[in-house]
Amino acid sequence: MATTNITPGPKALVVGLGISGLSTAISLHQAGWTPVIVERAPQRRRGGYFMGFFGLGQSAAKRLGYLDAMHDRLGAGSVTYEMDRAGNRAQGIGFSASHIGVSSWMLLRSDIENAAFAALPTDIEIRYSTSPTAIVQSPDGVVVTLADATTGQSITERFALVVGADGIHSSVRALVFGPEEEFIHRLGYMICAFELPDALPGMQTNEGAIIAEPGRSFWAFPFDDHAPTALFSYRTDDPIAERTKARQVGVRNRLREVYGPEPAGEILDFALDTLDHTDEFLYDSVEQVKMDRWHEGRVVLVGDSAWCPCLYSGMGATTAVGGADLLGTLLAENPDDIERALQKWEDTIRPYVDTFQGLGVRNRLNFTPADPKEARTRRRTLGVLRRLISNPLFGRIASHVPAVRKRGDDLLEIARAA
Ligand SMILES: Cc1cc2nc3c(=O)[nH]c(=O)nc-3n(C[C@H](O)[C@H](O)[C@H](O)COP(=O)(O)OP(=O)(O)OC[C@H]3O[C@@H](n4cnc5c(N)ncnc54)[C@H](O)[C@@H]3O)c2cc1C
Repeated sequence: MATTNITPGPKALVVGLGISGLSTAISLHQAGWTPVIVERAPQRRRGGYFMGFFGLGQSAAKRLGYLDAMHDRLGAGSVTYEMDRAGNRAQGIGFSASHIGVSSWMLLRSDIENAAFAALPTDIEIRYSTSPTAIVQSPDGVVVTLADATTGQSITERFALVVGADGIHSSVRALVFGPEEEFIHRLGYMICAFELPDALPGMQTNEGAIIAEPGRSFWAFPFDDHAPTALFSYRTDDPIAERTKARQVGVRNRLREVYGPEPAGEILDFALDTLDHTDEFLYDSVEQVKMDRWHEGRVVLVGDSAWCPCLYSGMGATTAVGGADLLGTLLAENPDDIERALQKWEDTIRPYVDTFQGLGVRNRLNFTPADPKEARTRRRTLGVLRRLISNPLFGRIASHVPAVRKRGDDLLEIARAA
């Protein structure tokens, strides 16, 4: 962790020690606040999965002081193949298409979390196994009840600001804004993501694979200096029932059912075998969070808790870091008017989130075509894209498309120009 001077500014509670929480705590500290972080888990998580990290997040991470602790893990020599179960392969596009027209790095979630954690000022208190169970606002502060799962004790504490950075199933959102069902939009897909121990059979680590079948797909995301990460993504009419089913039979068995009855083939077998031997995986339904407001009085939501754009957009971490960085700056620029700072913050970020949520819905077809018709559309689109990408002018033209350009914008510059 970085060493810094003690800054006895107003106390802010940051709920969650993920990318949003870490970045928010650094940003608030830079702005003269005294953040306290609470994290429900007993310790920091280590595992990761593939992540695109775009210019919008990079400029923010630089200001937060941890960009230089990360690097792009995907070089020009990397390749992703469109494959079938029998091992036949054709040149694919994979995530390299997201390099077009904008600066993007390919890395692991843990790369960002480790870099941000190392940059966290040493005087920021972190309380593990701790969650808020009640939040009561008054004009001059927020009284929060915090439960410690280790001791079973609860305490109440007053803060000048509370930031919910506690992910898609946010407790802060539920306690202050309303029940989850009001804000969650399910896309009708399930995912399972985890790290592979090694390159795919017969391949190098910087060779990725996509097996896209109607209603179900498998992606192995390649890296130059790390084993690939795996993503199973499949269609379901009822994500809640699907989650229950997976709980009953186990995620591993459920995936074998969903990706059967055909023989899995060498690559799917390798990934499913890996899953048999790890507890470090993420299994969830693909969801977006849509809210009219991200702040209420002195409580504000950042990252997935506020606007999860879903993994198909590739913009969750980028917007989390960008949003966290801008929050501290605008609070510092409006020291006597929190409402004004938070409103300006929302007004700046919302058009970006709207664009990226749209991107998430559209990109879904590329990740997992729902049916044979979509699978054909996907194949045709890939063919066109492959030809376009080979044209050097394409990058320059693409950089003017709003959804591409916005991924590289600097939110601070946008806020200042408004
Ligand atoms: C498979 C996959 C691939 C992705 N790919 C990309 C990509 O390419 N590019 C990209 O930008 N984004 C991507 N994302 C999205 C990205 O991972 C998230 O948007 C980002 O990590 C959000 O971080 P967060 O800190 O807001 O939430 P989280 O990572 O969910 O962190 C929330 C934290 O809060 C803690 N917490 C939860 N509840 C409580 C509570 N009640 N009290 C205290 N603590 C609590 C949790 O334990 C956790 O530590 C992907 C996501 C997935 C699942």
